[in-house]
Amino acid sequence: MAFEGLSERLQSVMQKLRGKGKVTENDVKEAMREVRLALLEADVNFKVVKQFVSRVRERAVGQEVLKSLTPGQQVIKVVDEELTRLMGGEQSELVQAKRPPTIVMMVGLQGAGKTTTTGKLANHLLKQNHRPLLAAADVYRPAAIRQLQVLGEQLKVPVFSLGENADPVQIAKQALVQVNDEDCDYLLVDTAGRLHIDESMMDELKRMKEVIQPDEILLVVDAMTGQDAVNVAENFNRELGLTGVVLTKLDGDTRGGAALSVKAVTDCPIKFVGMGEKMDALEPFYPKRMSSRILG
Ligand code: GDP
Repeated sequence: MAFEGLSERLQSVMQKLRGKGKVTENDVKEAMREVRLALLEADVNFKVVKQFVSRVRERAVGQEVLKSLTPGQQVIKVVDEELTRLMGGEQSELVQAKRPPTIVMMVGLQGAGKTTTTGKLANHLLKQNHRPLLAAADVYRPAAIRQLQVLGEQLKVPVFSLGENADPVQIAKQALVQVNDEDCDYLLVDTAGRLHIDESMMDELKRMKEVIQPDEILLVVDAMTGQDAVNVAENFNRELGLTGVVLTKLDGDTRGGAALSVKAVTDCPIKFVGMGEKMDALEPFYPKRMSSRILG
């Protein structure tokens, strides 16, 4: 399971509180000290941890007494609510344009899982009876175009490509014509990443945004990179204005730092999480369920 490290730590803190018929200010303080350490160890952003702990402490100490819960359970409820809030509160769905096609730009650094996630998202849309077209605009990573074509064949979804020597912006522009010709209602553009954030990548993405006017710009980041993922998200958001984040490789993420920090730091909601390499391993992100899972 994702986050088992963090989960174990928090569950042991909650366990101590659970049975308590009386919770003193000191108990809360002690519990919050442990929560703070657990979150920092999970690579949650330092400022986010600070705010989180002070909010919980304030609410847990000053809270009204609910007859149905023991004082210990009430503190746990506050932690649960605040964790949910931290991860975005309500679920945030994929945008659907009022008039089709809905245009989605998939952006991110090489290796984050962008191409795989583009396939997974197409699969997700197929299940909802949508008709996605994939555009192969990742012309820099060797074999990225072929990889998308293979996924397209597997899913029986059309893939638009102009080969590796074409300009990504042109590819996206022409794909926009193709999406109408093919009678598709979603266009997913697999854009070109780089190993690191650089100006030429951002310029290219900005030009593409300008030309195709996407309804959604989804950043694909690797959850296992923790605070690096958050920094990447901050950067892309500042340059491009993201509408959402997809956290990949959550299946291998024992810590959870990115999942717990991205929304608070960038204000961009996590829309999906990747839970494996297969095409069906993409899940909508439900902050409330995730919090329950972490707290056990
Ligand atoms: P890109 O360079 O961003 O397009 O990256 P790819 O889509 O080629 O993915 C890089 C590697 O990560 C591949 O081996 C994928 O199978 C793997 N990958 C992508 N998403 C996930 C995920 O959610 N979980 C796991 N375990 N692996 C993933």
